[in-house]
Amino acid sequence: MARQGAPSRIRYHFARRCLQVALLVVWTLTPWLDWARLDIPSQQLVILGEAGPLAFPHVLGLIIPFVATVWGIALLTYFKGRVFCGWACPYGSAVELFDGLRTALVGGTNRKVSAWMKRSWLHRVALQGGAWITLLAAPVLLALSLAAYLYAPERIVAALSVRPGQGGDAQTALYIWIGLVAVISWLAGFLVRFHFCRMVCIYGMGQAMVASTAEDSKILRPRFEAAGLDACGSCQACLKACPVEVDPRSEDLVLGFSSGCFNCGDCLDTCAVVQGHKGEAPLLSFEGR
Ligand code: SF4
Ligand code: SF4
Repeated sequence: MARQGAPSRIRYHFARRCLQVALLVVWTLTPWLDWARLDIPSQQLVILGEAGPLAFPHVLGLIIPFVATVWGIALLTYFKGRVFCGWACPYGSAVELFDGLRTALVGGTNRKVSAWMKRSWLHRVALQGGAWITLLAAPVLLALSLAAYLYAPERIVAALSVRPGQGGDAQTALYIWIGLVAVISWLAGFLVRFHFCRMVCIYGMGQAMVASTAEDSKILRPRFEAAGLDACGSCQACLKACPVEVDPRSEDLVLGFSSGCFNCGDCLDTCAVVQGHKGEAPLLSFEGR
């Protein structure tokens, strides 16, 4: 029998999008603002505006935060599952952005974009225009930011601010780099998508290993209200909402390798809306047993 409950509201989706956008902005700006970068030509390490040689003890400024981050993510994964993948990973955020672009340009699964496209022709034209601009601009921005982690930003600006052909080898290398990153971004965003996380990403695999060692009753993961199977009917909205095509109602929900759930919370929000329309409580939650 379906449970009665308070009207539900979307909790995770908006918070997750805000965090994803904020982190993408931080990761993009970090080398440009000299928060952290490695200058390969001069063999200098820049941390919080301070440049020093790529040698002990200055290099500790890079090693210590890196080791602390790896341990922090491992600990987070043990208790909260692959939450880093779903909420903070720049690759995952970019793939979800491409899902939105694809929905605007050729049709896809992003329900919010689909709904906006159906509002009026003006919405459709504006959304498609924005999608084309993002499709072209995002890889350029990504390429320049990645380059700035290894090559002084002022040199990048200098090489690109003169006419094509007048910026020397640095300019040619940057043009090739931008082209390469653009092609890789489009392939990753439209074709490879989350297969990369399943088969290639060592951080994803590391988190999968940690998650698989945690006790199932304690680790954070979507929990299905077992008594609510009847209430589901043929809905399947949570399944369709899952970016990695996992069934959140499954007892054996995979947190590790292959098709790992990364605790994004989209299925919970979707179920909350579906059940809310019926005036009933959601059948999925993040609560432990
Ligand atoms: S969205 Fe909720 S009601 Fe629909 S199938 Fe999923 S758990 Fe069942
Ligand atoms: S099962 Fe739910 S929480 Fe897990 S990835 Fe899919 S939508 Fe996100």
